[in-house]
Amino acid sequence: MVDGFRPADLQEALEFRAQHPSIPIAGGTDLMVQKARGFGLKPDFNKPLLFIGHLRKLRQISVRDGNIHIGAGVLLSELLKNGIIPESLKMAVRQMASPPSRNLATIGGNICNASPAGDTLPHLYAVDAKLILKSVSSERIVHIGEFITDPKQNTLGHDELLTKIIIPNKLFNVNYYRKVGQRKGMSLTKAAFLGMADIERDIVTDIRIAFGSVAPKIVRSQEIEKTYIGKPTFEMNTAIPEILAKYAPLIRPIDDARSTAAYREKVSLRLLEDFLWKLC
Ligand SMILES: Cc1cc2nc3c(=O)[nH]c(=O)nc-3n(C[C@H](O)[C@H](O)[C@H](O)COP(=O)(O)OP(=O)(O)OC[C@H]3O[C@@H](n4cnc5c(N)ncnc54)[C@H](O)[C@@H]3O)c2cc1C
Repeated sequence: MVDGFRPADLQEALEFRAQHPSIPIAGGTDLMVQKARGFGLKPDFNKPLLFIGHLRKLRQISVRDGNIHIGAGVLLSELLKNGIIPESLKMAVRQMASPPSRNLATIGGNICNASPAGDTLPHLYAVDAKLILKSVSSERIVHIGEFITDPKQNTLGHDELLTKIIIPNKLFNVNYYRKVGQRKGMSLTKAAFLGMADIERDIVTDIRIAFGSVAPKIVRSQEIEKTYIGKPTFEMNTAIPEILAKYAPLIRPIDDARSTAAYREKVSLRLLEDFLWKLC
C-alpha cells in the first residue's frame, strides 16, 4: 500500500482518487493536528494521503462573468494579498491562525474541514458561495450550505476533490467581522459574527448576517435579511430590539472546552447589535 502520492497535476490527482481510497491533504494544518498521536509517532492516517497543496490549477484566482473563482488550494496568505478578494473575507482571514500557518493553510481545507468555527465560512454562507466538486468523470456545483451537513461532515464523494469556490464579485460598503476568543491572536473561536451591508442615500439596499460557532452549522437567515432591505437607516435604529429577538432563537450554542453556551449566545447578540448600530 502506498502511504502517499504526489500527483503531477489535477488530472493525475483525480485519477488516483478514482482508483484508491485516499485522504486529500492541502496545507495539513487541520489534518496533522487531528491525526497526531504524540511525539515520535507517525500520525494516524488509515488511508494513503493524496498531496494536493502544490497543484497549480488549484492555486488560481480569477474573475469571470461577474464572479470571483478561487482555487481550493489558494493559501490564506494569498487571499490577503489579492486585490480581487472582498474585504469582509480578508477581515476574517486576518484573524485566522498565525502568518506561518496562513502560508500553509488553504481556503479549501477550511471549507472541507467543515467546522462551525471555520473563519472563512460566515462570509462564504453570506454570499451564497458555490463549490465545484470534481471527479475524473463528473463535475458538480453545490451551494456551501448543502455541502456542509454537520460539524466535520460534508458531502465530498470518495472520488472527488473540491477544486473551486465561486463567489459574486460584489463589494459591500459596510463590512464587519469579529471573532471572540481568549486572546487577540492565535485564539480558538468562542463565537464569530459577520455583517455586511450596502447603504445608498441612507437606505439599506442589501444586508447579510452570519454567525459562526453558535450552532452545528453557520447561522444565516435570508428571510430576516430581506425584511430590512429598503429600510431607511434611521429606522434600523428603532428596529434593533426586534432584529435581536428574531435572531435569538436561531442561536443554539453548546458548552464545550472553548466557552459556555450562555456566553456564546450573549456575545453573539451583542456583536449583532454593534453591527446594527454602525448602520444607523
Ligand atoms: C495553530 C492553528 C491555528 C488555527 N487557527 C484557525 C483559525 O483561527 N480559524 C480557522 O478557521 N481555522 C484555524 N485553524 C485550522 C486550519 O488552519 C484551517 O481550517 C485551514 O484553512 C485548513 O486548511 P489546510 O489546507 O491546512 O487543510 P488540511 O488540513 O490539508 O485539510 C483539512 C480537511 O480538508 C480536506 N481537504 C483539503 N483540501 C481539500 C480539497 N481541495 N478537496 C477535498 N478535500 C480537501 C482534507 O482531507 C481534510 O479533511 C488553525 C489550525 C492550527 C494548526
